[in-house]
Amino acid sequence: MDTQAFKRSLHQSDRYNRRGFGSPSKRTQALEKAYQSSLIGSIRDNGSVMKHGRLQVKLAEAFGFCWGVERAVAMAYETRRHYPNERIWITNEIIHNPSVNDHLRLMNVRFISAEAGIKDFSGVSDGDVVILPAFGATVQEMQLLHERGCHIIDTTCPWVSKVWHTVEKHKKHTFTSIIHGKFKHEETLATSSFAGTYLVVLDLAEAQYVAEYILGKGNSKDFMKRFAKACSPGFDPDKDLQRIGVANQTTMLKSETEEIGRLFERTMLEKYGPQVLNDHFLSFNTICDATEERQSAMFSLVDEPLDLLVVIGGFNSSNTTHLQEIAMSRGIRSFHIDTPERIGEDNTINHKPLDKDLIIEKDFLPAGKVNVGITSGASTPDRAVEHVIQKLIELSSR
Ligand code: SF4
Repeated sequence: MDTQAFKRSLHQSDRYNRRGFGSPSKRTQALEKAYQSSLIGSIRDNGSVMKHGRLQVKLAEAFGFCWGVERAVAMAYETRRHYPNERIWITNEIIHNPSVNDHLRLMNVRFISAEAGIKDFSGVSDGDVVILPAFGATVQEMQLLHERGCHIIDTTCPWVSKVWHTVEKHKKHTFTSIIHGKFKHEETLATSSFAGTYLVVLDLAEAQYVAEYILGKGNSKDFMKRFAKACSPGFDPDKDLQRIGVANQTTMLKSETEEIGRLFERTMLEKYGPQVLNDHFLSFNTICDATEERQSAMFSLVDEPLDLLVVIGGFNSSNTTHLQEIAMSRGIRSFHIDTPERIGEDNTINHKPLDKDLIIEKDFLPAGKVNVGITSGASTPDRAVEHVIQKLIELSSR
């Protein structure tokens, strides 16, 4: 499929909108009212530190709602106001935050249901309004909605669109896109749909496995067993790893994406030599600024003398999980929660350790002086962080 030609025709349609319906300043005001917090503002003004009795809270220098998320949420609210009587759907969560998604449900925005990863569009009719979330939608979904006569409100973050352009460039020049991401994540599914031949690698270990294969170690049967669900149909590792370009899910660990890029550059250099490297390796920087800022701030925060760390964000939020990974890598007692309600009045916390199910831990806040670090993912409103701080104040005041 010529995805670029499809996008051009979609963008010209009067049933497609990617700018929203309000002015950016009105948008900011509406969001400030709904999600911003005066407490967080005053802590920021105080060097990101708050002291209350035996409790000290240190906030990360950058955390919470990013520009792309703010824009997507505001566009979704504007859509409801612009179409007060139409049926409005969203192809997925607008962002990975339960309270924001619940708020949309209260505004009678319907979520397309999915079973085993397959979405059910059967309820969507001609004339319905469909919102595409910040992390985008697959080209097949866009095509289906367009052909069905829906009004499409596209809130895809421009940083995500930039990655789509990158994989389209790979496709145009017959390079295979190696995508650093989670193959089941909605953003990576969307990116893969714009790519031609692609392979998704989760982390540096998987990238190393691929690099070794390129250098002649390993066999194709094992390779395909490992990447069966993470590659384009008909992928042939012997043919499709001769010309490669790297792209990424925007919320992966920046340092890891960079390392993967350098690994493949070295690998292709070793295999093909410097004269023809450009015929075998393409690299574009597709790391999103907001992700980079929040990860750098987290690396500074974990250098502070902390007793524990609270990371707030949706459990399916990739950027939040990476913040938690940074805390874990330093051995800090760290808790990933999605809402403030996970902290109980009885000093328990119901949190999600990395790659495990939720567990309840007792004696969350220790006795005596306690220094707590806090950060949140790009989909978390400041109000949620404020509520966590209020809970900490209550627990520490007993
Ligand atoms: S994290 Fe980056 S790519 Fe994702 S919505 Fe925010 S600005 Fe856009």
